[in-house]
Amino acid sequence: MASIFSKIIAGEIPSYKVAETDDFLAFLDINPNAKGHTLCIPKKEVDKIFDLDEATYTELMKFSRKVAIAIEKAVPCKRVGMTVIGLEVPHVHVHLIPLNTMEDARFTSKASLKSDDFEAIAKRISSYL
Ligand code: AMP
Repeated sequence: MASIFSKIIAGEIPSYKVAETDDFLAFLDINPNAKGHTLCIPKKEVDKIFDLDEATYTELMKFSRKVAIAIEKAVPCKRVGMTVIGLEVPHVHVHLIPLNTMEDARFTSKASLKSDDFEAIAKRISSYL
């Protein structure tokens, strides 16, 4: 069965897109640790990051770096953190999280955003790419 992220790639379920190439997609996390929390994924559906072939892994990191630099410009924060977990969705994703305190990195406290907030922040990050 296709992962929820493959369904986002296929346009079967909605997302707040930040960046897209032929092989990668960046979109906002729907339950963000902080405003601007973004996921970068390869379009190829692979469960675990270290199972990616080396070229895709390297290109994912390059794509994530570009998106992270745009997030840092778009969202007031001390720095952008990068985390890979994957216990919830079995489709490789890199979490890029604007960090101000350690709490923002912990996945315990969540930011509550309205649809308008998601749309505005996705647009703002995109504008810095
Ligand atoms: P994990 O697999 O533990 O790295 O976490 C998966 C992440 O995907 C969580 O932070 C979820 O909030 C996020 N997520 C799950 N479904 C969606 C969705 N439909 N759109 C955006 N983010 C999602």
